[in-house]
Amino acid sequence: MRPVSYTDTRGLDPSRPSFSGVVVRGIAPGGGLYVPEHLPSFTLREVVAFSGMPYWQRAAVVFERFGVDFGREHVDALMRTAYGPQWSDERVAPVVEVVAGMHVLELWHGPTSAFKDMALQCMPLFFSAAVDKLQAEGDATGDHLVLVATSGDTGKAALEGFADREHTSIVVFYPDGGVSDIQRLQMATQRGENVGVFGVRGNFDDCQAAVKAAFNDDEFARELQEKHGLRLTSANSINWGRLLPQIAYYVSAYADMVGTGAVKPGDRMDVCVPTGNFGNILGAYYARLAGVPIGRLLCASNENNVLADFIATGTYDISGRAFVTTPSPSMDILISSNLERLLYHLAGAEAVRGWMAELAEKRTFTVDRDTFAAVRARFLGDWVSNEESLATIKRVYDESGYLMDPHTAVAWEVAERLRGDCPVLVVSTAHWAKFGADVHRALTQTAYDARLSEDAARLTGFELLAEVRRLAPGKRVPEPLAELTSLPERFGEVVDAGRDGIEDAVRTWLSRS
Ligand SMILES: *Cc1c(COP(=O)(O)O)cnc(C)c1O
Repeated sequence: MRPVSYTDTRGLDPSRPSFSGVVVRGIAPGGGLYVPEHLPSFTLREVVAFSGMPYWQRAAVVFERFGVDFGREHVDALMRTAYGPQWSDERVAPVVEVVAGMHVLELWHGPTSAFKDMALQCMPLFFSAAVDKLQAEGDATGDHLVLVATSGDTGKAALEGFADREHTSIVVFYPDGGVSDIQRLQMATQRGENVGVFGVRGNFDDCQAAVKAAFNDDEFARELQEKHGLRLTSANSINWGRLLPQIAYYVSAYADMVGTGAVKPGDRMDVCVPTGNFGNILGAYYARLAGVPIGRLLCASNENNVLADFIATGTYDISGRAFVTTPSPSMDILISSNLERLLYHLAGAEAVRGWMAELAEKRTFTVDRDTFAAVRARFLGDWVSNEESLATIKRVYDESGYLMDPHTAVAWEVAERLRGDCPVLVVSTAHWAKFGADVHRALTQTAYDARLSEDAARLTGFELLAEVRRLAPGKRVPEPLAELTSLPERFGEVVDAGRDGIEDAVRTWLSRS
C-alpha cells in the first residue's frame, strides 16, 4: 500500500503531508483540517474477514489500508501495544444485543472507562513514532509538550495515552471544583514520569481560554524551544490521528454483527452515535465511504442541540444559543469542529472556506440546497432532554437489565425514535460508573435539577457508586475506578487562571522534571 498524502478542508496547505506529518502538525496552516486525498475501499469479503482477527489486527489493517507511512510490521507492533492487556475485555470494542434489533457497541473497556481511550491509547504511540521518523529524516522538529484543558474526561484519557511515551510530555489543566470526585482522583493519581496535572481557579471556559492564550504566545513558544527543545501541541480531537482509530471500530462492529448473525453479509445496519464534536460519528461516515454496509447515520444530541437543528434545517446557528448543562457533559459543545470534514467531502474546500468565515463572523451559516440534500441522504438527527435521558437509563434497565451511562442513553432514545427496518448499532461511549451520580439520580427517579435528599447529598462519588450497585445488583465497577481511593495522590496543586497562571505552572513543572 502506497502512503496516502493529505490535503486540508480549506484548501490552503499545498504541502501534501503524509500521515506522520499531519499527526504531528494537528491543524493545517490556515485553520483547515487534514483529510486523506484517497480513501480505500473494502470489499464485503474483506470486511467480513475482520471477525476472525483480534482487535489490534483489525485496527492495523484499517491503518494500512488508509495508507499510513509506516511499514506493516511497525503498525502491527504499535497496535499490539495500543489494544493490549490494558483493555478489560479482550474483544476491546464488543457488540452486545440488548433487545431484539438494538445492539450496543461498547467503547469503554479501556483504562479510563470512556470512549476517548479508543483513540488515545493509539494516537500517542503513532505521534511519538511520527516525531521519531521526522527527526530521522532530518526535520528540525523537537520533542513535544502536549497542553490540555479538560472538563474531565479528555484530560484523563490523554494522560493515560501519553504517559511515558517517547518524545512527548503532557500537562493537563482542569477547573478546580468543576470536575467530579472520581474525575479529579483519576487525574491526581496519574502514573508516568512525563505527566503533570494542575487545577485552575475558575470554570472550564477560564481554563480553556488560558490554555489557548498560552498556545498563542509566541514568546512562550520561543522560551520552551530555546530552554527545553520543546514544541507545544494540543493533540485534540480534530487531529486525524485521533479520527483514524475511530473508523476501525465501525468496520469491526459490522464484522461482529455478521459473525453473530445479527445481519446477513451485505445487509445494512444503521448507526446511532451520541455526538459532541462530530468525531465519533464521522468515523462511521468514513467507514461507510470505505464500503461498510452502514445505512443511515443517526446523530444524537442532548439539550445542546445545534447539530440536530443543522441536520433538520441546513443552518448551523450558534448566534443566539446559550450553553446548557446536562448529564452528558462530553456532548456539551456548541462548535462541532469535525463537521467541517463532512462538509468538505460533500461540497469541497471553496464552499467550506466561505461557511467557516461566516461562522467566525456571524456565528451562523447555511449550506446550499445540494449540500443539504446530501446531508439528509445519509444523516438523521434528533435530541433528548435532560429528564428524558435519565428516564431512558431507568426504563432500559428495568426492561432489559442493561445499565447505561447518560451519553449512551441519549443515543438509545434517539435510536428508538428513528429506527427503521434494519438493525441499529447504538454507540456506547462511557461506562455507567464514570457518571455514577447521574445514574443514581436516574435509578432513584430524582429529577436532574432537583436537590438531592440530605442522605444522598452527603455521599461522595464513590459512595454513590456503592448505592447504584445496591440498586442494580450484580453490576460491577471497573477495576481502575474501584482502586482509585487506594492509590497515592501525586498531583493537587491549584494555579491562577489566565495566561500567566498556565505558563508559570508549565515552567514550575519543567523545572521539577
Ligand atoms: C467525547 C465524548 C462524546 C462525544 O464524541 P465526539 O467525537 O466529540 O462527537 C460522547 N460521549 C462521551 C462519553 C465522550 O467522552
